[in-house]
Amino acid sequence: MGTVMPAVFLGHGNPMNAIDSNIYTEGWRVFGRSIPRPKAILAISAHWYVPETAVSSTRSPETIHDFYGFPRELYDFTWPAPGSPKTAERVRELLQPLDLRIDGQRGLDHGVWSVLCHLFADADIPVVQLSIDETKEPEFHYETGRLLQPLRDEGVLIVGSGNIVHNLRAYSWSEAPVPPLDWALRFEEGVRTAILEGRGRELVRYRMMGEEGRLAVPSPDHFLPLLYILGLQSEGDAVTFPVEGIEGGALSMLSVRVG
Ligand code: ZN
Repeated sequence: MGTVMPAVFLGHGNPMNAIDSNIYTEGWRVFGRSIPRPKAILAISAHWYVPETAVSSTRSPETIHDFYGFPRELYDFTWPAPGSPKTAERVRELLQPLDLRIDGQRGLDHGVWSVLCHLFADADIPVVQLSIDETKEPEFHYETGRLLQPLRDEGVLIVGSGNIVHNLRAYSWSEAPVPPLDWALRFEEGVRTAILEGRGRELVRYRMMGEEGRLAVPSPDHFLPLLYILGLQSEGDAVTFPVEGIEGGALSMLSVRVG
C-alpha cells in the first residue's frame, strides 16, 4: 500500500480565479505542491447538482464554461486533463448497491477546472467527476464520502468544490474590498469549530444552524461537497485550512484538508 492521499474541500468562488492570480490561487498552488502526486482525481462540484448520482467516464472531458457574462478570455480557457474510465468503474464498485450511472459524455464544470488548473497546471492527471444528487438528504452525501475512503489508499485525490458560505444576493461585486458580514463569519466559524472538535458529522444538520445557516447556505449545492470530504476523514487524520478568506462579504473561500 502506498501513501494515503489527503482529501480536500476547496472554496472555488468566482470563475475568474481560473485566470487570475490572487491569495486563493496562490494557496491552491501551494496545496498542490504539498501533496503526493495523485494517480487520479475524483472531483465533486457544486455545479453538477442533478436528480441522480452519476460519475463521468469521459476519456477527454471537455472544459465546460457553465456561466454567463464573463470576459472572452475565460471562455477561451481550457484545462484538458484526461478522464479515467477505470477510476469511474472503481467508484461505481465502491458505491454499490447504489445504481450509479456512468456518463461517457460529461465534461468538467468550472467548479472543477477553475481550481484544479492551479493545483495541476500541466493537466496531466486523469479526472473523473461525481454528481451531487439533489434529491438526497445531507446524510447521504456524508455517507457516500465514507464509502469512497478506500480511494485515498489507492492514490486518488478526492476534491470537493463549493463554498461553505455562498450567498450571491448578499455578495458585493464591487472592486473595493468589503468586510465579511457578521452572519457569514459566525457560520464559517461554527463550521470550522465543529470540524476542529471532531464533530464534522454534525454538519449534516447545517439547516438547523439558525438564522446564519439560512443566510450562509440559501441552497445546498455549494455546501454539500464539504460533507463528502468530512466523510472521508479517518480517525487520526489532521485537519487544516490551507486557504482562508471571505470575499464580497458573503462568499467563504475556506478550504478544508483532511489527512
Ligand atoms: Zn460555484
